[in-house]
Amino acid sequence: MTSLTRADLDALPAYVPGRSPADLARELGLSEAIKLASNEVPYGPLPGVVEAIGEAAGQTHRYPDMGVAALREAIAERVGVSAERVATGCGSVALFEHLVKVSCLPGDEVLYSWRSFEAYPIVVTGAGATSVQVPNTAGHGHDLEAMAAAVTPRTRLIVVCNPNNPTGTTVKRDELTRFLDAVPRDVLVVLDEAYLEFVTDPDVCDGLVEYGDRDNVVVLRTFSKAWGLAGLRAGYLVASPQVAEAVRKVVTPFSTNALAQAAALAALKADDEMRRRAELVVRERDRVVHAMRELVPSVPDSQANFVWLPIEDRSMPFAKHCESHGVIVRPFPQGVRVSFGTPEQNDRFIEVAKAFLA
Ligand SMILES: *Cc1c(COP(=O)(O)O)cnc(C)c1O
Repeated sequence: MTSLTRADLDALPAYVPGRSPADLARELGLSEAIKLASNEVPYGPLPGVVEAIGEAAGQTHRYPDMGVAALREAIAERVGVSAERVATGCGSVALFEHLVKVSCLPGDEVLYSWRSFEAYPIVVTGAGATSVQVPNTAGHGHDLEAMAAAVTPRTRLIVVCNPNNPTGTTVKRDELTRFLDAVPRDVLVVLDEAYLEFVTDPDVCDGLVEYGDRDNVVVLRTFSKAWGLAGLRAGYLVASPQVAEAVRKVVTPFSTNALAQAAALAALKADDEMRRRAELVVRERDRVVHAMRELVPSVPDSQANFVWLPIEDRSMPFAKHCESHGVIVRPFPQGVRVSFGTPEQNDRFIEVAKAFLA
């Protein structure tokens, strides 16, 4: 029998949603379970956001502004570019999808480090393009030299995830500059900076400040992490005017919805508070990474709001152990990613982790 859907999609991993903390708490008879699995910031929406959503809610019978003019202007002003270089979307994952769409025909290659963000292979396969995955270094980061060497005439798009999800590692300014100099100028390079707000290492640069004048560089950012809007789905990219326009053409119409536009605008106005919260996360990062390294010496430095425990085949049992103690973490075949929560939540995680790893 012929299939109604593409055979090449059969091999795609199905998305595994994180467990609901409310369900888990009920099952375990706890007052609360802790979700440290999706890299959200634990402090709630930024001030002004809920009010802005409430106000926008009264107009939900109307379509949103298709051109996303006010939000694109506000983003452009914040990052110091013209609004014609900005495109927004239903989360930055959707924008990545649009970037593959505007750059790749079937069989064209998208190159990225692996393991990296789990959405990349799903999006690339969905678009009918071909993933070329370059293994991470022994230190769990991007091997930019190997990536440069893996470029072929079919390479149309390269992703540099900086800091890298799920390992928290970064590429430094010098090596990134060398890499960008080596890549052909007709290949798009996406700098996925979902965790930029948590970066404190002065050798890790803001891709837009450093490389914004290169036509083939696209900087991808999100409101889901430090800006606290994961539930609303809003992301943006900054690219050359031509690339940004191509993305705006293929974007699903109205996919930056009215509430997301209003909320993102309000969040941008609360950027002092965003920064204060990001600093709290960074303080917790130092503490949790230190505690984890006592248990697993190979834990890499993190510049994001999560830590990577490269515990290989103990990953699944460790995640199960944490879950049975009311802490939800994110296991992968090679390790476990744990987001930072409030100080109390992190204390609880450290205690639960010690019981398994010590
Ligand atoms: C979380 C994350 C994103 C953001 O995705 P949204 O669709 O904006 O929620 C993008 N890239 C990476 C690497 C991430 O970890």
